[in-house]
Amino acid sequence: MKFSPLFSGSSGNCSVVSAGGTNILVDAGMTGKAIVSALDDVGLSPQDISAIVVTHEHIDHVKGVGVLSRKFDIPVYANEGTWVAASPLIGTIAMRNIRTFVTGQDFYVGDIDVTPFPVSHDAAEPVGYRFFNKGVRLVCMTDTGFAPQRLRDEAAGADLIYLESNHDIDMLKNGPYPYQLKKRILSDKGHLSNDAAGELLTKLYTTGVRRAILAHLSSENNTERTAYDTVRSALEESGVGERDFFLTVAHRDRVTGIFDI
Ligand SMILES: [Zn+2]
Ligand SMILES: [Zn+2]
Repeated sequence: MKFSPLFSGSSGNCSVVSAGGTNILVDAGMTGKAIVSALDDVGLSPQDISAIVVTHEHIDHVKGVGVLSRKFDIPVYANEGTWVAASPLIGTIAMRNIRTFVTGQDFYVGDIDVTPFPVSHDAAEPVGYRFFNKGVRLVCMTDTGFAPQRLRDEAAGADLIYLESNHDIDMLKNGPYPYQLKKRILSDKGHLSNDAAGELLTKLYTTGVRRAILAHLSSENNTERTAYDTVRSALEESGVGERDFFLTVAHRDRVTGIFDI
């Protein structure tokens, strides 16, 4: 399996999961044009995309969904709640491309087994995803206000986790955002902080997780350096050294790389 983050953060999210001949876009939260150009950077064309799976209806996750589906006849998968909430943003797409799943029930897209699981976020029915192919497991978990035991179980033993590390709590508290927005981000239905990501990864390490890409960084309340250092320190404090754990950070506005899992 291969995983390529194309865009990550509040200005737009999109990544590609590939295995066998199947390529799945996880969200399409940039313009269709930007996504097509980023796909080209990882050696893919829109015709190679088997499906788009949507996490939730926020614009930074669905902006390009409608355009891509209409232009390249791509099936779109989401749960009922997300379909209802996202329809005005996605616009009209062909009936055959509207695929509805039930959260918690897995489905196949080509060679890849996809399991959506609920996360805690201020959207209609937000999910994270587990992707499975030939014994390899990838977990994508962004846009979640906190990570209770249930979510830790979803990610246990993953070969790679793409995990939200949205903000530095002090930068957020002292930063320019209005009080209500700060409160929303810090809430259980907001976004995961660097500290929370670090804590989660130290727990996941005990389940066998050895690789993580930090994702969905805030442009105002975080930097790649801060996110990396905070999470790396948390791992080190729990006795997990640099050589024991691969850690990197997804770029906001360009392809981060192609990761072989
Ligand atoms: Zn988001
Ligand atoms: Zn969101």
